[in-house]
Amino acid sequence: MEAFVYTASPSRVIFGPGASSKLPEELAREGRHAALILSTPQQVGEAERIRDLLGPNAVGIFSEATMHTPTEVTEKALAVAQDLKADCVVAVGGGSTTGLGKAISVRTGLLHICIPTTYAGSEMTPILGETANGRKTTRRDTKILPGIVIYDVDLTMTLPQNLSATSGVNAIAHAVEALYAPDTNPIIKLLAKEGVRALAEALPVIVKDGSDAAARSKALYGAWLCGLCLGSTAMSLHHKLCHTVGGSFDLPHAETHTILLPHTIAYNSPAVPAAMRELADALPDADGDAIEGLNRLLGRIGVERALKTYGMREEDIDRAAAIAMENRYYNPREVDQTKLRELLRRAWAGEPAKTDL
Ligand code: NAD
Repeated sequence: MEAFVYTASPSRVIFGPGASSKLPEELAREGRHAALILSTPQQVGEAERIRDLLGPNAVGIFSEATMHTPTEVTEKALAVAQDLKADCVVAVGGGSTTGLGKAISVRTGLLHICIPTTYAGSEMTPILGETANGRKTTRRDTKILPGIVIYDVDLTMTLPQNLSATSGVNAIAHAVEALYAPDTNPIIKLLAKEGVRALAEALPVIVKDGSDAAARSKALYGAWLCGLCLGSTAMSLHHKLCHTVGGSFDLPHAETHTILLPHTIAYNSPAVPAAMRELADALPDADGDAIEGLNRLLGRIGVERALKTYGMREEDIDRAAAIAMENRYYNPREVDQTKLRELLRRAWAGEPAKTDL
């Protein structure tokens, strides 16, 4: 076995149906008595439920979390936290709310307790993307990691089936890139394969019946493992493409990941045959072919396959390819702008992913 470095994530994780009812115990364990609860406007009902659960240990709700963690929203939330003398934040929601929790906690040192309600996996990463004056910047710092993560499947039951499907594929993408990351290791590969397996089994069941709690639980478990993979390894072409293209053309996050993943894997596959075999083993019905396995999974969960569905125009493809070439980053295969343009064109048009580039 080759030498490797493995750094364990220091978060405390509480997993299980009804796990959010343990929140008062967790606050007491940490000696906190003044929680500010964070949510999006759409999930204020969940935030109110958490406030009721905490009783006098909740000092308020800030329900303006939004995509891409705009710094003006963070500044507003910071002022509220200061006014209310909050001693911790409880973020209940998807990646957008987790992002706000991270942005507050990294600036103030306040304990961040995160209760994820999607499969995006941000709660497991020391990564924070923020937007100021229309520009998104991303940084990594272990101080960004939430201190406590509570995975309560009950809070994921309301996630619409189409968003569950794309959010789950967003998580699978984290695991896929961890399989061929330059800093991967055998522990992360185990987590990646188990995460993909769990999500690939659960997502088709959830798409058929969103109220299947066992499948929801399995998906949340998979999302946890996949998030850990993203937080522990460097990202390659797939994530960079989703961030630059998604950000520049205002495309929805999880949907962009879902559409691009088969194409980016197909592009990288000649350079990473071992990772492709491992991915194929983790996907049901792959018959030894990771790309075909992923195609079949996406077919079964009925997701959109074309970026044009989300408003990207054909004339944007050249600019998207140019933007994606701007910053250098690790990728197992050299990135060529002409090939990248064709990859993006296929994803824009909704054509099948092919390994001929
Ligand atoms: P999101 O948090 O933006 O949520 C999408 C919508 O679904 C919101 O309106 C939200 O309130 C609603 N929602 C969430 N959970 C729900 C539930 N259980 N029931 C009903 N509605 C629910 O979407 P997301 O895909 O989770 O997160 C995307 C954001 O997270 C992006 O900004 C992305 O950049 C970021 N992200 C960051 C990391 C990281 O490591 N830093 C990782 C993944 C995603």
